[in-house]
Formats: sequence, C-alpha cells, structure tokens
Amino acid sequence: MKKALVCGAGGFIGSHLVKRLKREGYWVRGVDLKETQYAKTEADEFVVGDLRDSRLCAKVVDTDFDELYQLAADMGGAGFVFSGENDADIMHNSALINLNILEHAYKAGVKKIFYSSSACIYPEFNQLDPDNPKTEESSAYPAQPDSEYGWEKLFSERLYFAFQRNYKMNVRVARFHNIFGPEGSWNDGREKAPAAFCRKVAQTPDGGTIDMWGDGLQTRSFLYIDECLEGVRRLMESETFFGPVNIGSEEMVSINRLAEMVMEISGKSLKINHIPGPLGVRGRNSDNALINEKLGWQPNFSLRKGLEKTYKWIAGEAEKAAK
Ligand code: NAD
Repeated sequence: MKKALVCGAGGFIGSHLVKRLKREGYWVRGVDLKETQYAKTEADEFVVGDLRDSRLCAKVVDTDFDELYQLAADMGGAGFVFSGENDADIMHNSALINLNILEHAYKAGVKKIFYSSSACIYPEFNQLDPDNPKTEESSAYPAQPDSEYGWEKLFSERLYFAFQRNYKMNVRVARFHNIFGPEGSWNDGREKAPAAFCRKVAQTPDGGTIDMWGDGLQTRSFLYIDECLEGVRRLMESETFFGPVNIGSEEMVSINRLAEMVMEISGKSLKINHIPGPLGVRGRNSDNALINEKLGWQPNFSLRKGLEKTYKWIAGEAEKAAK
C-alpha cells in the first residue's frame, strides 16, 4: 500500500485530496494547523500541528513516504492576499513551511514531492488586458507578480527545483488557477470570488442588491476541485514531466458574468453594487497548451456545472448558519 503525506490536509484542496487518495487505496497521514472544518477527515492519521516548527516537521515526515503533497500555505482570496495587510505573514509563514518540509523530506528519503504554486506568480504586465491575459508557463520571467503571495510562490518553486537539481529529489510543481468547489472557505474572510458570490446570492432575498469589488469587467477562469485533483494526480504519475505547469480552466469569464451565473442558478434576480476593493490583476486565464502536450489531458468540466454544485453546498451552509 502506498503511503502519502498531505500537508494542509485541513484546508480546501488538501481535504479533497485526502479523499481522492483514500479512494485510490493509499494510506494517508494529514497535517494542518486545524482540523477539517466541514466534513470529517478521511485520513488514516491526522496531526494538528504547525509546519513552521521544524521539530513538528521532523515528527510528521518520519518515514520515506511514497508521495508528499505540500499544500499548506497562509492564503486566501483577494480580500486576504491583495489588501496588503497580511503580506509579512504570507511570505514568512509559507516560506518557512516550504523550507522545513523540503529539508525533512530530503532527510527522510521521501520518494516524490508535489508543490502547489499559483497563477499569482505571473507578471502583472502580461495581465493588464482583460481579454488577452498571458499565462504561458515560460512567461513567468522576467518576474513581476502583483502580490507578495506570488513572490513567495515563485521563490518556493525555485527552492523545490533547486532541491531537485542538487539533492536529486523527485519534485512536481503545478500552478493552480482559482480552484473552487464545496467544502472550502465561504464566510471567513479567506473565501474567493465563486464562494463569495454564492454566499451573497444565497443570503440576499430576490430583488435585493449584492456588493462587488471593482467594475466587474476584470476576467478570471475557475477550475472545479475534482479537475484540479485529476491534474495533480496525473502530474504525480508522470515520470518524464515535472512542471511547473498550469492546472486551471480556459473558460474565462468577467466577474459580472460569474455573479450572473450564480444568480441564474439560484433563480434570483439581484442588482450589483460596484464598490472599491482589492482586485488583483485585470485579466487572467489558464493557458493549457503545456499540460495538454505533456500529460495528454486538460480539464473540461464547465464552470456552470461546478457552480451548481458549489451554490448548492453554500446555500445549505448559509441556511444552517442562519438557524
Ligand atoms: P486553504 O487555506 O484551504 O488550505 C491551506 C491549509 O494550510 C489551511 O488548512 C491552513 O490551516 C494550512 N496551514 C497554513 N499554515 C500552516 C502551518 N503553519 N502549519 C500547518 N498548516 C498550515 O487553501 P487551499 O485553497 O486548499 O490551497 C491549498 C494550496 O494551493 C495552497 O498552497 C495555495 O496557495 C495553493 N493554491 C490554491 C489556489 C486556490 O484557488 N484555492 C490557487 C492557487 C494556489
């Protein structure tokens, strides 16, 4: 039986990854600062602990795991990452986690290690036109991410590949583009646009008004969680391609359109009140040419179908919270 360690197993993507690995027959240890929030973890062992602490890392990376997935990071949506208020924590905490994990994974002889980077590493100057953003993997340099979150991810990508070159570690790196789905942050200040609009629409009576940061003409693409995990697993299984590779959707929409889709799903008609707020780049879309070429696969689950599942879950959570 293969053994996997999932760092960040209490978070959104990590908790879903644990379920997926269990379905595939792995023995899984999860570690996180906190337990899973919305459903009980399916991990065989779950350690609550701080990966900034090197001693804790030594304890949880105590054997030559077949696979280690490093998803733990101090992160959130635009309200958390682009406000500027959390920059020091984001850089310090996430860098420390990556430094610790790599050191102990090397010492323990971990056989394969996955690192989740982000579309936020791409240069701001390539994402000014909302209709033609550029995120081809090779366009990462010369670097100019628009957030400290992106700079930390870029540093850590380089760290993982340095360990691959110098210490022959078997590394995989993917750049996630806006992953969404049920059982993720929806009301704690770390939620991203799809969850935020699902919450606002669910909590607003028909005919009411919801707030939106910016003019809503900024563009993004969003990838449903199951597709993200399929991409991660395929990258891990590849013995010839290590990344960095985009794992995202090419179905780009404006934020206005995203909100409209959620309204359509809910059956409500709401007005949008555009207000100032943290925004990030003007346009972003995944470029899937490389994943298609190297892994012979790219995601194709529609945004609409993913939003239907997510809205249903968030509307249910909102109803429970209101009781
Ligand atoms: P998340 O916030 O739900 O999960 C991250 C988890 O890391 C949290 O449960 C958190 O408690 C844990 N963590 C933070 N600091 C820790 C510490 N010191 N010790 C132990 N655990 C700690 O986020 P997510 O959406 O599941 O993202 C997972 C990874 O994917 C992150 O690295 C994130 O940067 C990356 N990513 C996510 C997206 C996305 O759209 N969700 C996009 C790009 C990249």
